[in-house]
Amino acid sequence: MTKQSDQGPSYTDAYSCFKKLSAGVPCVFFTYWLSADGKARRYPFVSEQVKSILGLDPGTLRENADAMFSMIHPEDMDGVAASIEKSAKTLTPWRCQARLKVFAGHYEWFETHAISERQADGSTVWYGQFYNIQHYKELEHTLREREAESAFQADFQKLIATLSTEFINLSFGTIDQCISELLQTIGSFFGVDRAYVYEFSSDYSVMNNTHEWCSPGVPSLIDSQRNVRTDDFDWWQAKINEMVSDNRVVFVGALEQLPDGPERSLLEQQGVCSMFCVPVRVRGLVTGFFGVDSLRKRTWREDQADLLIIVSGLLSGALERHRLESELLNQSIRDPLTTLHNRRYLMPRLNEMLSRASRYGEHFTLAMFDLDRFKHINDSGGHLAGDFCLRRFADILIEQTRETDVVARFGGEEFVVAFSSVSQADVRDTVSRIIRRVRDHDFVFEGRTLPLTVSAGIAAIGELGAIPASPDPLIRLADERVYCAKQAGRDCLVDASGVSRA
Ligand code: GH3
Ligand code: MG
Ligand code: MG
Repeated sequence: MTKQSDQGPSYTDAYSCFKKLSAGVPCVFFTYWLSADGKARRYPFVSEQVKSILGLDPGTLRENADAMFSMIHPEDMDGVAASIEKSAKTLTPWRCQARLKVFAGHYEWFETHAISERQADGSTVWYGQFYNIQHYKELEHTLREREAESAFQADFQKLIATLSTEFINLSFGTIDQCISELLQTIGSFFGVDRAYVYEFSSDYSVMNNTHEWCSPGVPSLIDSQRNVRTDDFDWWQAKINEMVSDNRVVFVGALEQLPDGPERSLLEQQGVCSMFCVPVRVRGLVTGFFGVDSLRKRTWREDQADLLIIVSGLLSGALERHRLESELLNQSIRDPLTTLHNRRYLMPRLNEMLSRASRYGEHFTLAMFDLDRFKHINDSGGHLAGDFCLRRFADILIEQTRETDVVARFGGEEFVVAFSSVSQADVRDTVSRIIRRVRDHDFVFEGRTLPLTVSAGIAAIGELGAIPASPDPLIRLADERVYCAKQAGRDCLVDASGVSRA
């Protein structure tokens, strides 16, 4: 009951005063009663807003609290029950957060604060309020996402810094291992199932899987992906064109986005759900691509494309440097005319072979070749004809020797082949074969057949009294024997047993 006065309303009934007060604040006040055996529960008082907020009638709740509990999100039910139980047991305040189904039909977050009081009959009563905290929850969620995002960015930056350092410190010859490590690091970081590098042939008609990393349990594809022809794959060829001409990435979020065709069946067969490929460029030219596959459906963050482009940039830089270093190394150890190794490469290799032979008591034999009357070829056919013969002769040497033999251009028209672990008889057979092959080969340059023969001297380590400290005495002996072969009429070989006509 209220009584109007000049000072404004004055409340004589505290209950009606509280009801009005509680109806005007943005929270729901309540008293909650739980019987001693926990079987009966009621809300003896609950603010009128419970109607507008949750669509519940305070009158009903006064009789039975079940309607309120049915509004709780199923996932939050256990948490609410546990918080009530604890508060009832320990008589500490009841605090909990839970989603309630609001009048509009969806769930929103609420927080409850109430103090508990034990009654004489063993039942418990709580006095408190619950209020909407949806806005805070959303803020908290955004904040968490931002935190996760900046943690991800920071981790990625750290990762790139580590990988760049590894690539910068990359010692020559370890690039393959470094690329494999990069694939593993990036693959694990992005949580993909496969990460790989492919190389294109110069006309882009063939692609070759050069490096691969697979997460545990994911089958490797690298063996089936060597020298794959691209002409049967129209869609993929269009994508290669985009990579090559516009430096575009290839992104397949889900296989359903692909047109029906061989690419889709192949990816289906490989179990791929989504993939991402970024071109790799060396000296401004797309030479291949770096890619990742996911075998599960996943959502790709928008910035992940940018991050993968950074990784591909790192790869491009490393491959470019590697190519440059290989070229420089090749230039310094190879003869540009014949592409055989040069003397600079040969001498240290001879030293190695010599020490190995002396350590393990293996054969080590050296053959020196000198083209016969080469001046005459130059004089009659011209210098280019001479160059042509030198190149063809180099081809014959490569074709007639094994990969483990060291073949080098020693000087102008002088060549050396070093054989390790080959018997003297076998060396003599090989050298004879080379002499015969040169004699029988038609060296045709600009329509003219050039008459070319070669003389050879063979020297084996066993012929020297003691194992020399350097290969010089062996070279000297082989050279002397070349001279003997020339004296003997050329087109023959000389070894310890004398002249042999091949
Ligand atoms: P012999 O049978 O006694 O070995 O006679 P030869 O004419 O081969 O002997 P010589 O060593 O006097 O001549 C070698 C010639 O090889 C001289 C040189 O002009 C030529 N020569 C050396 N290097 C090259 C080269 O790179 N290209 C060409 N075309 N000729 C070269
Ligand atoms: Mg000579
Ligand atoms: Mg000569």
